[in-house]
Amino acid sequence: MRDFDYRAWSHKAADWGADYLEGIADRPVRPMVKPGAVAAQIGAHAPEQGEPMEAIFDDFESVIPDAMTHWQHPRFFAYFQSNAAPAAQLAEQLATSFAAQCMLWQTSPAATELEMKMTDWLRQAVGLPDAFSGVFQDTASSATLCAVLTMRERALGFSGNKEGLFGKAPLRIYASGRTHTSIDKALWIAGLGQDNLVKIPTGPGPHFAMDVDALKSAIANDRAAGLQPAGIVICVGGTSVGATDDVAAICDVAEAEGLYTHLDAAWAGSAMICEEFRPLWSGAERADSIVLNPHKWLGAPMECSLHLVRDPETLTRTMAIKPSYLKTRGKDDIVNFSEWSVQLGRRFRALKVWFLLRFYGLEDLRDRIRNHVAWSQALAERLRADPGFQIVTEPVLSLFSFRHVPESAGDLDAHNLALTDAINDDGRIYLTQTDHDGQVAIRFVAGQFDMREEDIDIAFNAIIETARGMHG
Ligand SMILES: *Cc1c(COP(=O)(O)O)cnc(C)c1O
Repeated sequence: MRDFDYRAWSHKAADWGADYLEGIADRPVRPMVKPGAVAAQIGAHAPEQGEPMEAIFDDFESVIPDAMTHWQHPRFFAYFQSNAAPAAQLAEQLATSFAAQCMLWQTSPAATELEMKMTDWLRQAVGLPDAFSGVFQDTASSATLCAVLTMRERALGFSGNKEGLFGKAPLRIYASGRTHTSIDKALWIAGLGQDNLVKIPTGPGPHFAMDVDALKSAIANDRAAGLQPAGIVICVGGTSVGATDDVAAICDVAEAEGLYTHLDAAWAGSAMICEEFRPLWSGAERADSIVLNPHKWLGAPMECSLHLVRDPETLTRTMAIKPSYLKTRGKDDIVNFSEWSVQLGRRFRALKVWFLLRFYGLEDLRDRIRNHVAWSQALAERLRADPGFQIVTEPVLSLFSFRHVPESAGDLDAHNLALTDAINDDGRIYLTQTDHDGQVAIRFVAGQFDMREEDIDIAFNAIIETARGMHG
């Protein structure tokens, strides 16, 4: 049996990580690799005999980094950022040492109790009342699945898990047409079916909010047709252009109709640590369930999704394999977080949040988010001032979309797709395109943890120079 020099190689990995982060801004954000190029360098099967770590580490260095997209690059302006603040990375390394399995209180007491505290610290940090309890799910997709399952079980008097859905009236769930695909997927997995996700039309920008009158009539029509409304998914800071529903108005409807609400603020939720941004989700304290991803904007490494619920009992009655009402609870405040989630085995996620919040402090984290918002909005103004560009959707926090509209380009959609590719091939910045109401727009979102104001100037230059290079 081989021995491993854990100490020496961990030191080497730490040095490698520090060097990587120090030099990251000199790399192209997106790698210049062709599909299959990495696989071609990896053997066809596992070796029978162990290999020297030197060889493995050399291969790591020569094969992997240049074929990665650098999410910690300060000029990553694509998708939504997936940040890993350096001080929180440290906690991930430590958590790995325990190889902790955090399914029950007794399988990792410190992890469970820290998770209770950290979900509560975050709840307070985003200004929500103490009526909410939290759990760290792996991703927003999982939190939303749990919420949709909860809607289903609540509507069925908690009979669905046992009996299945056969022969029951279809359950209906409502969301705006601009919500994330994770909601569609949750309905698939929950057995409710895509056709029972009722997509309500949205109003005009900048918020593209769900039309609440249309929501009311959809619910009334469904009831009249013998279908059973079960819940509403509310969107704050949607992925494409930041679509944001009127949370309070939707909660009015949900309360009148007896429907469960789940608020998806996977990206925008982190910004709620800044009081001035909270009007965006005004009414959030009335939602039954809320998800926001500290692994996006706040700086906790993947995976870390905060799922807050006002009534944990409804969630655990849905998710605990042994229903919580059959358990002796409350005696010693024991929480078994596997009863709050799809996963049984769970990682120690709270440690990175503890390190993150303690090392940086909320003031520092707020400053970063405020800078991202201000710098992104300043870039939108610079592009607006250039007659060659159009702002397609106005900034929602640090997200806006634009397009290049030179007179010489015939097909503007094709031109903006080509421009996005050309900007990304240039390597200085990384952006993604979106299809906004049938036209191609280029999304810009600022939010990398260590980005600086100069990175916005570099972005402006990369956009302008590439666009002019294509159409003087
Ligand atoms: C990113 C995102 C999701 C999905 O998040 P995961 O954690 O990757 O599952 C869902 N909804 C919105 C609005 C998002 O921005």
